[in-house]
Amino acid sequence: GFTSVKGFIKGNLFVLFTTAAVAVGIILGFGLRSYNLSLRDIKYFSFPGELLMRMLKMVVMPLIVSSLVTGIASLDSRASGKMGVRALVYYMLTTLIAVFIGIFIVMLIQPGKGGRDSPVTSGSVETVQALDAFLDLIRNMFPPNLVEACFKQYKTAYKKVVRTRTVTVTQNFTNSVNVTDSNSSVLHTVQETVEETVPVADSSSGLNALGLVVFSMCFGLVIGKMKQKGQAVRDFFDSLNEAIMRLVAIIIWYAPVGIMFLIAGKIIEMNNLAEVGGQLGMYTVSVIVGLIIHGLVVLPLLYFIVTRKNPYRFIGGLLQALFTALGTSSSSATLPITFRCLEENNHVDKRVTRFILPVGATINMDGTALYEAVAAIFIAQVNSMDLDFGQILTVSITATAASIGAAGIPQAGLVTMVIVLTSVGLPTEDIALIVAVDWFLDRLRTTINVLGDSLGAGIVEHLSREELQSQDTDVGNSVIME
Ligand code: ASP
Repeated sequence: GFTSVKGFIKGNLFVLFTTAAVAVGIILGFGLRSYNLSLRDIKYFSFPGELLMRMLKMVVMPLIVSSLVTGIASLDSRASGKMGVRALVYYMLTTLIAVFIGIFIVMLIQPGKGGRDSPVTSGSVETVQALDAFLDLIRNMFPPNLVEACFKQYKTAYKKVVRTRTVTVTQNFTNSVNVTDSNSSVLHTVQETVEETVPVADSSSGLNALGLVVFSMCFGLVIGKMKQKGQAVRDFFDSLNEAIMRLVAIIIWYAPVGIMFLIAGKIIEMNNLAEVGGQLGMYTVSVIVGLIIHGLVVLPLLYFIVTRKNPYRFIGGLLQALFTALGTSSSSATLPITFRCLEENNHVDKRVTRFILPVGATINMDGTALYEAVAAIFIAQVNSMDLDFGQILTVSITATAASIGAAGIPQAGLVTMVIVLTSVGLPTEDIALIVAVDWFLDRLRTTINVLGDSLGAGIVEHLSREELQSQDTDVGNSVIME
């Protein structure tokens, strides 16, 4: 009918705008490079892009909470349990496939062959031990304060602490000739000053999405079971979600402008690409090839096998979200747009998107996992270190963990990479080798992260159609009436 034609035109108009914005951004960026703008000028120039980032981040927190709470409360626990398991299986499976593709490509291309071609020069990275990184992940799942979780995460810092302790020295004389009591010993105590490095759970700024996800899921589960008493809270979060999505609809009009300036600004700012030759160039190529295979071949194939629908049509509906990911390099900032694309363009059931997307954007990062594996093996190659089968297995497991632990913010993957490197004894300082191209690879892997989440929503919806249908006939709408 008329409305669907109007929707079609509107949807395509947005895609057209956004595509044009990316193109213009690239042209503008390269065009302005010759003017040698100062960093300060570039910052001013990118201001419209910064505004987009700010708007998106503004709606992310209420969006995550309201969509998860309503999403879960509107399903009965059997349906949400089944859907949750399907989503988790999809996340694990696709992340592992991504890791294997990465490993395969980097071993095939061997970008780091022949050892180090240049000494480490640029950048330094904070190193965190794997255990602490793991504990941070768990810590962030249980925020002590919900308001704080909206702007703070925990990230271990190391503090040097000097303390004096009393050490008791016990000396046994049982072997002595003159002792009558065989258990007698001489005790003396000494004061000792020791300096220790202590891991302290420090707070670093940024949305603790994982904590909010865990809380909202539990909260949704509880109020879903609360019968009449829970109705007011269910209605509240339902309206909140609706209202936020309307705000997102407004932001979407501005998105093309923001994306254009974000991309142009970054292109003006970047170092000369011609300088990225040799090993680093081949490393970049390896990551890109891996991401393309995973995002444009493997994931679509999986989508097709499960749903028997055209995956590229589905991806077409996602273009705006993908471009936003490219522009912002943050899957959590892209989340609002991902919601819109899936619900408006691809007509994925809201009960699925509300449930699946916030979780996916937080823990499912195929692109990041692939990149972590490639980077770790590249660094091994540069150090002329041959990894045996066990070590490669370790890399795949830790790369998966590192992608789950990475927050959906720019370059988070670079930080969690320490987990992968330390697990096989690679020098963490060598992260500095890949820092120069990370801003670029970050954008690409974020795009694949968003793509993986979105195709996952489509796949889980298809697999859960029975439960969704039975809920439709049971309750008629998204909120359970008791
Ligand atoms: N920037 C990525 C994301 O937001 C995470 C990463 O650094 O890999 O999805």
